[in-house]
Amino acid sequence: MDTKETKSDKKKVVAVVGGGLVGALNACFFAKRGFEVHVFESREDIRTAKVVKGRSINLALSHRGRSALKHVGMEEKIVSQGIPMHARMIHTPDGKQSPIPYGKKGQYILSVDRANLNKQLLTEAETYANAKLNFDHKLQDWNAETGTMTFVRGDGSREHVLADLIVGCDGAFSAIRKQFMRRSRFNYSQTYIPHGYMELTMPPRDGDFAMKPGYLHIWPRNTFMMIALPNLDQTFTCTLFMPFDEFDKITTGDQVLDFFEQYFADAIPLIGVEELKSDFFRLPAQAMVSVKCSPYHIGDKCVLMGDAAHAVVPFYGQGMNAGFEDCIVFDEIMSQFNEDLSAVLPEYTRVRVPDDHAIADLAMYNYIEMRAHVNSKWFLFRKYVDNF
Ligand code: FAD
Repeated sequence: MDTKETKSDKKKVVAVVGGGLVGALNACFFAKRGFEVHVFESREDIRTAKVVKGRSINLALSHRGRSALKHVGMEEKIVSQGIPMHARMIHTPDGKQSPIPYGKKGQYILSVDRANLNKQLLTEAETYANAKLNFDHKLQDWNAETGTMTFVRGDGSREHVLADLIVGCDGAFSAIRKQFMRRSRFNYSQTYIPHGYMELTMPPRDGDFAMKPGYLHIWPRNTFMMIALPNLDQTFTCTLFMPFDEFDKITTGDQVLDFFEQYFADAIPLIGVEELKSDFFRLPAQAMVSVKCSPYHIGDKCVLMGDAAHAVVPFYGQGMNAGFEDCIVFDEIMSQFNEDLSAVLPEYTRVRVPDDHAIADLAMYNYIEMRAHVNSKWFLFRKYVDNF
């Protein structure tokens, strides 16, 4: 594989813990700056793994995320593999559909495959000669004074690693964040919403998408909703968001069918009766958590980014996008302060915490907006006036 030479021969070691979406992208940002970058990921390499466990199958990439990808020369590659969604397509209970554009004519968000995006970012990180990916390395503990991390491997062996800067990109249940929790004046809150989510597949029909692909389809039903995003293989991934109490009430295939007939009748023939009855019980509904914390750093040693700093509920489609934007903001502050970590890290907290908290609040607000307000005639009228 060709490897990129970076502009300096700095030897500072940056450990990126977590090789998910934000960690893999961040590795590119740090490698581009010439640091010696080591990514430590608890899972095996998803590019070669037989089964890739994770969250949503696809996600919406928007302006924030695209800007970050552009910084590391990945925008075009990822955009070319995404499906533009120009509007939300609202499905009423009686099967009518009406679009609500996201913005002005020509503006859109993209449906992208999560696993593919993660794989491409890992491969991009590997093109830098000064970046190394370490899979099957689960962070167990680390020392905020010395910067020493302890990793456990699949075979139970332990590895101790020292870094100048530790970047915690290990997701909503961050092991890096645990050290922050032990420190004075660290603020932390987490909220589980009463809703869970479940993914169902809508297969292609006669060799084409079963619904119009240029849209994010929404079936808003006030206390719950279903959405569907298109995939490159002409399937749709439908995600049902509903209170856990309601999921618990549905225990047989016939009950699934009754429920869908009442609320999502137009989707039944598109998903398929038998597929729906079995798919519904394939996996239990998954929980959704919102995490806010502050500060995002410890001294000049460690910084949190992505979901490790701010897990948000998915209704604003901005969790990954905001995590990608973290990388740009940090990179800009690095330039501003000449890579002096003792100045960069506090400034990052100062600048970034209010914005990430605002995204978390907006996501919580959209939790109601998407399933309830989009139903109102007033909303439809307002969107109509806004966009035309
Ligand atoms: P993660 O993706 O969680 O990655 C963390 C990585 O760290 C993982 O690879 C994990 O294996 C690794 N790790 C964990 N613990 C350790 C450890 N101890 N040691 C080493 N490695 C470790 N966002 C959007 O922008 N648009 C959307 O449309 C969207 N839709 C969503 C739909 C759903 C249903 C959900 C649940 C989320 C959605 N999101 C969306 C949010 C998005 O998934 C997250 O914001 C994003 O995955 C965050 O990336 P991350 O790299 O910070 O964390």
